[in-house]
Amino acid sequence: MILRMSSLFLRTLREDPADAEVPSHKLLVRAGYIRRTAPGIYTWLPLGLRVLRNVEKIVRDEMNAIGAQELVFPALLPREPYEATGRWTEYGPNLFRLKDRKGADMLLGPTHEEMFTLVVKDLYSSYKDLPLSIYQIQNKYRDEARPRAGVLRGREFVMKDSYSFDIDQAGLQASYELHRKAYIAIFDRLGFDYVIVQAMSGAMGGSASEEFLAIAENGEDTFVRSPGGYAANVEAVVVPQTAAVDFAGVPASEVVDTPDTPTIDTLVDALNAKHARTDGREWTAADTLKNVLVMLVHPDGTREPLAIGVPGDRAIDEKRLGAQVEPAEVAAFEDGDFAKNPALAKGYIGPGVLGQENSSGIRYLLDPRVGEGSAWVTGADKSGYHVINLVHGRDFTADGTIQAAEVRDGDDAPDGSGPLSAARGIEMGHIFQLGQKYADALDLKVLDQNGKLVTVTMGSYGVGVTRAVAAIAEGNHDELGLIWPREISPADVHLVATGKDAEVFTKAAEIAAELEAQGLTVLYDDREKVSPGVKFKDAELLGVPTIAVVGKGLADGTIEVKDRRSGERTDVPVAEVVAHLV
Ligand code: ATP
Ligand code: MG
Ligand code: MG
Ligand code: MG
Repeated sequence: MILRMSSLFLRTLREDPADAEVPSHKLLVRAGYIRRTAPGIYTWLPLGLRVLRNVEKIVRDEMNAIGAQELVFPALLPREPYEATGRWTEYGPNLFRLKDRKGADMLLGPTHEEMFTLVVKDLYSSYKDLPLSIYQIQNKYRDEARPRAGVLRGREFVMKDSYSFDIDQAGLQASYELHRKAYIAIFDRLGFDYVIVQAMSGAMGGSASEEFLAIAENGEDTFVRSPGGYAANVEAVVVPQTAAVDFAGVPASEVVDTPDTPTIDTLVDALNAKHARTDGREWTAADTLKNVLVMLVHPDGTREPLAIGVPGDRAIDEKRLGAQVEPAEVAAFEDGDFAKNPALAKGYIGPGVLGQENSSGIRYLLDPRVGEGSAWVTGADKSGYHVINLVHGRDFTADGTIQAAEVRDGDDAPDGSGPLSAARGIEMGHIFQLGQKYADALDLKVLDQNGKLVTVTMGSYGVGVTRAVAAIAEGNHDELGLIWPREISPADVHLVATGKDAEVFTKAAEIAAELEAQGLTVLYDDREKVSPGVKFKDAELLGVPTIAVVGKGLADGTIEVKDRRSGERTDVPVAEVVAHLV
């Protein structure tokens, strides 16, 4: 294919766009790849679209290679499935909600777990149909609080999302491993310097979860890694219990008495005070820290107030309340609907995670001795109570480790594999084991070998396709412009004809045709009234990896071939130039 610059729908800009802060954003706009339509919403111009399609192709190739099958869902969706899983509300202001002319609620899909689950439920009914992996490459909509850096964080963006369906955990593990391999192939081909880190599973729920982060100083994620191979997003760092919480004595001072057998109400009152006494025993919270009640919910449903502690690096008086609160009283914690339990929660933020900050800037920690089940943490601060739902496996693990918010450069890795160093990254991909969350909520069951109905086990796997374009640009540019890896580049060769000599243009057109015949895409600068200086500047800016200049050298029988990345120039005899470029 030949793209002739004389007619190509392209305008390059000499000035950086006023709203651009990071290099990829500036360069993609200046080079005429994208154009802003509204905050976080971009138009893909011809050259940009070619890059986007190249990224999509790599993703598609590798998904097809693991046997995943492509389909596509609508972006405009009905409310009901999202209502059934609770996400119509849980998604909060990030969800684009709208009404149709009859007043029915609709949304623009931010992610499609519900739709995938339902289509499989619709069509499949037996274990014989599984395993199955299906995917789409499609526009997603999220009303991000801070759209940023062009297409790096958009409000409309392209995501590849796939889902695996298996009969059991072993099947899910196998599907997960397949996707992991495919992702390694994808990010290798995209040319990223990336790291695979342990991650939290976010709004989708689920447990085992890893992110693929492109290492970039402009990234929004911080990760830590050790020389021994440990790597985790700081959001998900698991630290040994001894490092997380120091139960060393905290001085008691002012003490507030509570009745001998506290109820939820009196506990709340007590927690609201700086220090309190129950059943004649006193407990305190460090002055600088606010009170937290940690409630353990065992797998069998029994509940145990585990500790009164404090967010931050100290928690105290663990277990003291254990003997004093009857399970019946504590059952008020059960269903997670804390907003309706004014005795306990005067405010509600949740579901939340360990280490998460509440609206008052409090970070929560959980007693690391928690073994199984779920735990509720209530925290009290000046603005009232906040309740956070902590889920076993997601927020803390059975071996007594927790996810802590504070991990610092130089800390020892939790697995003892050496000192941690912190760096920034861009989340390019995210894989996780959803388990049965969506299958449960939407009742996706199949018959197993014994004719018994079993709930399907799912995995979920995303790649940010438009984000990848920005992230590649972020990692592949210099002060003059973009430098695409060849597989991503909008063309294989940027062929520039300079001067006014008709012979030059004839020769250049001939070379372009020969390259095209060899299957290459040629961006041919055939513009007649444009100076060589402008053409060279454009070539540097556009970033095609190989630039061939047909000009003065032609008289001596040579064509200059320049490697955009290294800047190295070679004079190649005309007769050899096509072979040289292929
Ligand atoms: P982030 O932490 O950056 O907000 P996320 O964890 O919310 O991302 P996922 O729900 O895991 O994103 O979606 C899968 C992939 O989609 C992400 O790994 C990322 O590459 C991409 N992605 C998510 N949000 C955006 C966005 N606003 N613009 C562009 N790509 C996005
Ligand atoms: Mg997000
Ligand atoms: Mg994320
Ligand atoms: Mg994610």
